[in-house]
Order: sequence, then structure tokens, then C-alpha cells
Amino acid sequence: MKNCIENTKKTDKSFFQLIRKSDEGNFNLRVGKIINSKGYELPTPSFIPVATNASIRALDSKKIIELGIKGIFVNTYHMHLAPGEDYVEEAGGLHKFMNYQGVIFTDSGGFQAFSLGQAIVDGVGKIVSIFSKEGKRRNKNEEKFAEIKEDKIIFKSHLDGKIIELTPEKSIMIQQKLGSDILMVLDECTSPLSSYEYTKKAMERSKKWAKICLEYFKQTTKGDQFLYGIIQGGYHYDLRKDSAEFICSLDFDGIAIGGSLGTSKENIKEILSWVLPYIPENKPRHLLGIGSIQEIFTAVENGMDTFDCVIPTRYARTGTVFVKTPPSFVKDITAKYYNGYETKRYHKPVDENCNCYTCQNYTVSYLHHLFYVGEISAMTLLTIHNLNFYNNLLADIRKSIIEGRYLEFKKNFFQI
Ligand SMILES: [Zn+2]
Repeated sequence: MKNCIENTKKTDKSFFQLIRKSDEGNFNLRVGKIINSKGYELPTPSFIPVATNASIRALDSKKIIELGIKGIFVNTYHMHLAPGEDYVEEAGGLHKFMNYQGVIFTDSGGFQAFSLGQAIVDGVGKIVSIFSKEGKRRNKNEEKFAEIKEDKIIFKSHLDGKIIELTPEKSIMIQQKLGSDILMVLDECTSPLSSYEYTKKAMERSKKWAKICLEYFKQTTKGDQFLYGIIQGGYHYDLRKDSAEFICSLDFDGIAIGGSLGTSKENIKEILSWVLPYIPENKPRHLLGIGSIQEIFTAVENGMDTFDCVIPTRYARTGTVFVKTPPSFVKDITAKYYNGYETKRYHKPVDENCNCYTCQNYTVSYLHHLFYVGEISAMTLLTIHNLNFYNNLLADIRKSIIEGRYLEFKKNFFQI
């Protein structure tokens, strides 16, 4: 415990409280909590599941609450297209609209400019392989749905082909109307395959947009929302440093790290080590779009407080379940064999030690059958299990940091 120090430093708004930090294993570990203006608390570090259209696919909000999920990540671009921010505002904001009592993050729409634009051309994600799971590698001749200009992003709606212009101010305005707790500045996420010159140009543009967003936010905020600046710069030391220095010098409530995180998962650690020295200790940090098991440990060890990703929910929808078996920590429920047995004859839960609703009530043979015949409940049940797995993992990580036995926990988890 000698490496742990108590720290109750708060930002002026008490939006984030750092409860404990530890340098166990020479890592940069921290436990804290985010408290929104409604008083809902999100313990950190926490994994934030993606609820693109104000819904975690296959689950309703009550189920999300029951699972103990205290924070979700909603996509601004999708909510702008449907139902539109004016309708959400009229409904009383996202919390009331979806009846979710927790901390809601919204992105700026910038990532969609990437995923609907250059990612289609390059056939990549934030790290090159992210789309491989669902086999979405695309043809270079495929149509792009987004274009970046110096002062805005121009989208072509994938729903009806309508042209949408997103400026920094408009992105903030939409997020204000949506009524999320944590807003992100408009930024440009570059492809891991982008050149150094292009990544630099995009980073400079993101800096300009960040400043415009902050000024607009300050003039218009009612004080019940919090704005994060985003560090960009791809996998380039000087660009990350430049972006981190600039973004962290501004008066943001929190700091996010976005953009391309290199061509391998190992690069993430390096990028975080470049930017961390610039981020004030009392500000919460969010790592955008990261969430494999190994990446979570990397993020936690490098001072990140929250991270969002589609992995556990997307995997669930394709029949992949998380289990405490290294090195992959996943099993395929649609495969012919499970734990060495014929899956159709495996009349036991996904994990006999799991406390989730799915494992308490259903067997692998039944889930396998539901997937085989295409029942919707299969996706719901696997999503519950996977999110419960992630939630328990983060709760265990927080506890181990507080009790000064993070290294021991990690060793046991990876069985090394
Ligand atoms: Zn389970």
C-alpha cells in the first residue's frame, strides 16, 4: 500500500473526483468517479458501452440499469439523423427520452466523418483491424458518405441521401439539445493509413475546431454539461505532443484521446505515454473507441478513466462470448464444439461461475440453438453476458487498485 496516496482533488464543478492513485508496477493507476449534474455517479475506470441510437442494441434501458451500467456512449450523428435533436430536447433530453439514469457521453459526429469517409476507402478502423470481425473490408470504389472541409464536415445521410453540414458550433448545439452529460469537441479522426502530412493537417484543423467548440460552449452552456477536448495526431510523437500541449492548455472539463492509434494494439501504450504528461491530473481522461480485454488493461495502466467500444456488444451479436480463459478470453457459441464438447450437447451455462442473468437461467446448448434458428433473444442474452463480464472486470480492477493488489489481480486474470 506504500505506493498509494489518498487524493480528493476536485475540479471547480466537482464533476470529477480522483479517489486514489497508485504507481504499483510503475503504472499510472487511478480510481475516481464522475458525477453528472443530476447526481448520477460513474465509478472510474469504467468501460462505457456504445448505445449508437440511444439504445444498446438488443437491450432496453431498464436492462442496462439492472446490469449496473453507469455510463453509455451515444452517437450524435445518428441522433441528428433520427429522430433529430429537436425531438429529443422536446422529450426532456436523452436521459428522459430513453429513461436512463446514468452518465451519458455523446461524440461530436467527427468519428462518423471518418467511418463513413476515409475508412471506407482504406477499409480500416481506428486500429487497422477493427472491422475484421464482421468482415467489412470494403472496395476502394465504394462511395464515401462524408467529406472534410476546412471549416466543416459534409455528410450524405446514409438513410435518405440528404446533405448535412456539421460545423464545430453545430456539433456542440446538437449535443446541448440532446442533453448528454459529457460532450466532445468536433475533431477529425484520421486513418492509420493517412500520411504524416495529412495527419498533421487534420490535427491542426482539429485544434482550430476545438477552440471554436470551447468558445461556443462557454457562451451557451447552462452549466449542467461538461465538454472534453480531444487529442489527435495519429501515431506520430511530435503531432501527439503538439496536440496534447494545445488541448490541455485550454479550459476543458475533461480530455479525450482520439484518432488513429497506430497499426497495432501495442502502439496504444506508446501514444498514451506521449500525451499523459500534458493532461492535468484533476481532469478525467477518455480513450475513444478502445475496448478489447488487453486494451482495457493498457488503458487503465496508462491513466485512462473511461473508454468506449462496440466490442462486447458487437461480439455478442455474432455469437462470441467472453470467458475467463486466456489468451483470447472469448468462445464462439455458434461453433460445433464448446469447451471440447459438442455445443448442441453442452447443457451448462456459458460460464458456471458467472453471476449474470443469462448464465443463471440458460445453457450453451439452448443459446446455440437460438442463434442457429435466428431468434432475437439470442443477441439479448449474449449481450447481457458480455456486458456483465466487462462490468465485473472493471469493478475487480478498481477494487484491486484501491487494495494495492493490481499486479496480483492481473497475474491471476491472465494466469501467468
Ligand atoms: Zn454470464
